[in-house]
Amino acid sequence: MTIGVPKEIKTWENRVALTPGGVESLVRRGHKVLVERGAGVGSGLSDAEYERAGAELVSREEAWGAQMVVKVKEPIQEEYRFLRPDLILFTYLHLAADRPLTEALLQAGTAAIAYETVQLPDGSLPLLVPMSEVAGRMAPQVGAQFLEKPKGGRGVLLGGVPGVAPASVVILGGGTVGINAAKIALGMGAQVTVLDVNHQRLQYLDDVFGGRLVTLTSTEANIKKSIQHADLLIGAVLIPGAKAPKLVTREMLPMMKEGSVIVDVAVDQGGCVETIRPTTHADPAYVVDGVVHYGVANMPGAVPRTSTFALTNQTLPYVLKLAEKGLEALKEDPALRKGLNTYQGRLTHPKVAEAFGLPY
Ligand code: NAD
Repeated sequence: MTIGVPKEIKTWENRVALTPGGVESLVRRGHKVLVERGAGVGSGLSDAEYERAGAELVSREEAWGAQMVVKVKEPIQEEYRFLRPDLILFTYLHLAADRPLTEALLQAGTAAIAYETVQLPDGSLPLLVPMSEVAGRMAPQVGAQFLEKPKGGRGVLLGGVPGVAPASVVILGGGTVGINAAKIALGMGAQVTVLDVNHQRLQYLDDVFGGRLVTLTSTEANIKKSIQHADLLIGAVLIPGAKAPKLVTREMLPMMKEGSVIVDVAVDQGGCVETIRPTTHADPAYVVDGVVHYGVANMPGAVPRTSTFALTNQTLPYVLKLAEKGLEALKEDPALRKGLNTYQGRLTHPKVAEAFGLPY
């Protein structure tokens, strides 16, 4: 099969959908890989590396002309003209929130497979996990920066020093983001508390961290108590398919310490803190009631090199299957079948169809 890798053109997007290693795996199996010139530059991957891996360096038009196009972000308006009926598109799509793209895909008849709806039998979303791992590990790092006085914080060092207590990090939600945030916060020497509604998850966290962190059931009382001593509050809850619950309300905010910091990673689902709103890497934080709020909705965008490798580690096995078998691969792999969002002008994912009130 011919596989195209266009350069991402969405603002601030520096990731790329295949690494040279991924290209090599495909080429070794007899596939042809067309990489747009400069596609990897934002992730520190040069054209020469792709060429050495066996890719053909091409124009944007040629990359989009391949039988299958792999991308990172959803196509933006100026890419709609490349959509066509015999194209397989494999990328993050988030169609429920994007009517123009959904219509463009349906009109073109493209077979569009969304990373975020590829789903394993246990309900997990393997192509979302790597970005949660990245964002989770970034959260304490970002929070530590904003706790510094020049950044508007209360001037507290996360790990403390001998004779001075470390900072208190409170994490709402102990899933993928939460456990990764906990690991790094503990590594930086902070005191860590994780709240979750899932008791089994709390048991797991208690087991793996061997008492090095405090686990609490996520009740209103426990949340209120925890935010009062938090120097850094990390929002990491998820109710799949729904908006995040507002666990820290506007009224609760004044209970937090002056100069404390909120990093609400769940901001992409509306956030679990009522006063959070989406921000960008260019202007990431603002202050409400003396509390610094950080609400960047695409945190992994700040570390594109790590994120590119993290993402492609997970997508490559599916890319290989699709390259080998084309759409037949969907019949053999139910997880990949769940990724199919549009096909021959029809919506093929129940949740997306539901979002538009369209037949499925
Ligand atoms: P996950 O499903 O692995 O974990 C979510 C956890 O929240 C679960 O353990 C669940 O039991 C818990 N939870 C649900 N309701 C709760 C409540 N009321 N109180 C406490 N805990 C509760 O999800 P994840 O992969 O960790 O993702 C978390 C959020 O981070 C999602 O919204 C995801 O989209 C987002 N995210 C954002 C970025 C970013 O750049 N901002 C990047 C990656 C992920």
